[in-house]
Amino acid sequence: MNKVDLKTLTLQKASDLLKSGEVSSVELCNMYLERVADVDSKVNSFLKVANDKVLAMAEDADKRRAENQSLSDYDGIPVGIKDCIVAEGETCSCASKILENVVSPYDSTAVKKLKAQGFIPFGRLNMDEFAMGSSTENSAYNKTSNPWDTERVPGGSSGGSAASVGASLIPASLGSDTGGSIRQPAAFCGVVGVKPSYGMVSRFGLVAFASSLDQIGPFAKDVTDAAIVLDAISGVDPNDSTTSPEEHPSLVEAVKNAPKDLNGLTVGLPKEYMEMAGLNPEVKAVVDKAIDQAKSLGATIKEVSLPHTKYAVATYYIIATAEASANLARFDGIRYGERVEDPKDLINTYFKSRGAGFGDEVKRRIILGTYVLSSGYYDAYYLRAQKVRTLIRNDFENAFKDCDVLLTPVTPDVAFKFGEKSDPLQMYLADIFTIALNLSGNCGLSLPYGFADDMPVGVQLIAPHFGEEVMFKTAKVLEDNREQKEFIASV
Ligand code: GLN
Repeated sequence: MNKVDLKTLTLQKASDLLKSGEVSSVELCNMYLERVADVDSKVNSFLKVANDKVLAMAEDADKRRAENQSLSDYDGIPVGIKDCIVAEGETCSCASKILENVVSPYDSTAVKKLKAQGFIPFGRLNMDEFAMGSSTENSAYNKTSNPWDTERVPGGSSGGSAASVGASLIPASLGSDTGGSIRQPAAFCGVVGVKPSYGMVSRFGLVAFASSLDQIGPFAKDVTDAAIVLDAISGVDPNDSTTSPEEHPSLVEAVKNAPKDLNGLTVGLPKEYMEMAGLNPEVKAVVDKAIDQAKSLGATIKEVSLPHTKYAVATYYIIATAEASANLARFDGIRYGERVEDPKDLINTYFKSRGAGFGDEVKRRIILGTYVLSSGYYDAYYLRAQKVRTLIRNDFENAFKDCDVLLTPVTPDVAFKFGEKSDPLQMYLADIFTIALNLSGNCGLSLPYGFADDMPVGVQLIAPHFGEEVMFKTAKVLEDNREQKEFIASV
């Protein structure tokens, strides 16, 4: 019998237990290893767990603690890593056959920063192949289940990262968000997920999907834990020229000093989101409850308009696929990736290796992206999409003239059943509430807030570019005042 209840264990509680000596890091890691061995056969969130290495790192952390040399308050706590974020000596397949058996010789900046604080990279988390998808059904390996109902998807593309935290197999994890891949699975699995502002977290060592949209961010059990992880991984990095040199305020401090109410805060409700056809009324009811809560806590509620919302999905699927087609060109069996046996010549090597190594969705995106960039179509599609992107960014800038944060749904519905969205277009359209802020660069946070159909429902807070401080403070106040105190999956 574990002496710690992993289902309610946060990073803060784990840190206290380590500090007081009630548990050691080796004990803590062993508890998680046992739980993964017991429970992950139902959820299948991890592609691989680094058992021996985890315990060796935990022993080192315990030694440091005994000598008062701890690297931080979190030294010796395990975290999970999405399989597209490299860690030294660990496989990084991006859940693709083409990168099967690839072992990274170096750490991504995010992992390096976590290690510098003593966090232990615990294992590799399942995802949609190359982060393309919204259900994790596109993984070439496991079928990850939602910890609330194993007949349903965990969302995607960071499905393993969300499901592992939702199932309490790990206290926190890293994911990546190009069009919603952190916020949507977080909402489906009842955990907190954050897409930081573009430029907040280095992508060095993140296998690129769409470079102008990708961000790494945390999954955690509560808002404070998400702040702890985001503080640990953010900051300027000479290896990623898109990271901002600006000093970011401590989000842990922001959360700690969050007010008791929302007096003085203006919360914007984008009318195009709230009126969206296809929004499940039960999901809407949860969002309405959060709005009422904000109001009763003193916030001013204001309707705002994001008039170009209707173009967001189309714009995203042109820009993201165009960038993906360029980024994935390197996986050709020569420079990177599994090479087929006995190819006839160079071109045949490319064709066969890519044909065998990529799954259907990845091929679909590469074909679409190559098409929109091809001469003759570039102006009609790619260039036009870039212009619409500017309009979408302007929409957010205008909205934030009148309010501090936006409050919206994260997804039109709760987690769906496996195979339910077999039409790719249907799957793409469900990204409507998350995609626009990847195009604009703003930050967004998904906070579990209620239930519909016995499944968790998240609400999304959106703040201006580098407005994480107000976003986290607002999230903390809503979390403290929400009806449902804890979201604990049954698995
Ligand atoms: N679901 C979106 C897509 O398939 C977003 C993916 C992501 O954020 N990585 O492109």
